[in-house]
Amino acid sequence: NTKSDSYYVEQEKVKGLVKSGTKFSSKDDFGRVLLIGGSKGMIGAMTLAAKSAMYTGSGVVTAYVPNCGYTIMQTVVPEVMCATCDNENHITTYPSLEHYNAVGIGCGIGLHKETATALITFLKENKDKKLVIDADALNIISEHKCLDKVPAESILTPHEKELKRLIGEWDNDFDKISKVKALAKKHNIVFVLKGAHTITIAPDETVYFNSSGNWGMATAGAGDTLTGMITSLVGQGYMSKEAAIIGVYLHGLAGDCAIEKIHPHSLVASDISKHISTAYNRLA
Ligand code: AMP
Ligand code: MG
Repeated sequence: NTKSDSYYVEQEKVKGLVKSGTKFSSKDDFGRVLLIGGSKGMIGAMTLAAKSAMYTGSGVVTAYVPNCGYTIMQTVVPEVMCATCDNENHITTYPSLEHYNAVGIGCGIGLHKETATALITFLKENKDKKLVIDADALNIISEHKCLDKVPAESILTPHEKELKRLIGEWDNDFDKISKVKALAKKHNIVFVLKGAHTITIAPDETVYFNSSGNWGMATAGAGDTLTGMITSLVGQGYMSKEAAIIGVYLHGLAGDCAIEKIHPHSLVASDISKHISTAYNRLA
């Protein structure tokens, strides 16, 4: 198939997609989201994702982490509720998803064998719940070759190395995009291929090249802030493709707002979340 439905995502397009609240809005109108992840030494990934989900507008955010993350989450992000798995350093059991409008999984989750085995079972048991899947949750899915277990309409956010583990090598960008298009269609899932020009590929085979962002964002934790943002948007009721396109653009724009004050070398992931508000204002 050589027909190409591709788009370059710029400010004007995204402006028209962003919804706002009303005078009578309540927490429930903005969604209840759950973020699952964290392991000893990587709880920061969850604080970043949770904070970003709050700044993106979620009504209520709950983080599900191993015990070692409890005090950290409650101290660093007091706005976020915290539930724990009954294990100290890594996740061994997964929570019920029934009360949440969106679920993001993988930030700092690690590759412990118990975490992986339980994740595969969790996927089998939650076939009807679309997920936002990132980081080591993606690596576990690659290792267990179970992309077919990913729920329909899920959003996967691999960077280049994570994508290689998922789909193997590619010849060139054209080949990469056509391989991912085929998988997006086959499994009815959205891919967000992160990089300098993040590419969103939808099951309808449309391709969106993002225009915002800068090299200051090549820093640890930047991807975790994106996962929190996209999960928040799904929870606010955007369809998966829209949530991915808006989340990626807003994330890049927040980074662009940040470097107006902070040198790109000095930009850290929490600067991205702190500037989500400025980015929203620019889209208003
Ligand atoms: P991760 O590797 O998971 O932390 O994700 C990194 C995030 O930063 C992704 O959202 C990338 O799109 C973004 N990013 C990394 N490098 C650049 C760059 N050179 N220009 C723009 N965005 C970038
Ligand atoms: Mg990452």
